[in-house]
Amino acid sequence: MADILTRAITKDGFFKISVVVSTETVEQARQYHKTMPIASAALGRLLSAGLLMGSELKEENSKLTIQLKGDGPIGTVLVAANSKGEVKGYVDNPLVDLPLKSNGKLDVGAAVGKGNLCVIKDLCLKEPYVGNVDIQTGEIGDDLAYYFAVSEQVPSMVSLGVLVDTDYSIKHSGGFIIQVMPECDEESLCKLENSVQGLMSMTEMLSNGMDGKEIIKYVMLGFDTDILEEREVGYVCGCSRERMEKAIISLGTEEIDGMIQDQGGAEIVCSFCNTAYKFNSDELEEMKTKTKHIKRKDENG
Ligand SMILES: [Zn+2]
Repeated sequence: MADILTRAITKDGFFKISVVVSTETVEQARQYHKTMPIASAALGRLLSAGLLMGSELKEENSKLTIQLKGDGPIGTVLVAANSKGEVKGYVDNPLVDLPLKSNGKLDVGAAVGKGNLCVIKDLCLKEPYVGNVDIQTGEIGDDLAYYFAVSEQVPSMVSLGVLVDTDYSIKHSGGFIIQVMPECDEESLCKLENSVQGLMSMTEMLSNGMDGKEIIKYVMLGFDTDILEEREVGYVCGCSRERMEKAIISLGTEEIDGMIQDQGGAEIVCSFCNTAYKFNSDELEEMKTKTKHIKRKDENG
C-alpha cells in the first residue's frame, strides 16, 4: 500500500478534513477491471471516497460499502472499504464510452444517470447502519455531499478527482472531505465557503505535486490545523481459494450437483480483482460432504 491518507482538524475544532492521494489505488483498479476512462473516473472517485469514509470508522473490524445504482450505461458502481485503509470495488460496465462534456471533461454524470446512492456501515453492532439518498448529479462528489447532509446530518464539502492519461493509465487521483462540526460558527463557515470557491481542482493540486499535508494547508488557508494522522492506504482484495470454497458450500448440495452435472466443475471469478478460481468435480463432491455437515449442525441446533 503506497497511497497516503492524511487527516487533520482545525485548532478551533470547527472543521475536520481528510485528504487522500489515491493514484496507485485507482491504477490498480484500472488494471484489474480494464476500465476505459469514464469508468476509471467513476470507480476512482468512489474508491477515494471509500478510503476517506473508511478512515472515519473507529471500531477495528468495521467496514462500509458505497453503492451507486443509476440508470446510466455504467450500471452499478460499488466500493467496499474498511478501517484498515483497504479498499476494493467494481463497476458493471468498465468499457462504457461517452462523448466528453463541453468543458472537455469526462461525463461521469451521464454515465451514472439517475437512481440511488446507498451507504452501508457495518460498525460491529447488531444491525448495520444503512443510508439511502437519490443520486443528484451522478458526479459522485456532489452526491456524497448530499448524502452527508441529508442522511448523516453532517454538512460537508467533498472534492474527488481522477485524471486519466492519454494511454488510459491513471495520472492522478485523489480527494478530500471537509466536515463542518456542530460547534462551528457562521463566520467561520462563510470564510471557508468563500475560500473553497476559488480553489484549484483536486487533479490540478496533484498535478502541481502537492501532497496531503500541502493540500490541507492550501484548502484550509486562514485556519490553523493539527495533523491527526497520516497513513498508507491501498487496493486490497483479500479473496482466496478458501473463501470461494466457503461460498460454494453455502449454496447447498443441489446447486453443487447442478454444477457437477452441467459443467463438470465450477469457475468463480472474483468481482473485485477478476481472479478466476476453478474447482473440478472431485473437489465439488468433497464440498458436498461439508454442506451436509453444516446441515447436521443446524438440525442439532
Ligand atoms: Zn479478489
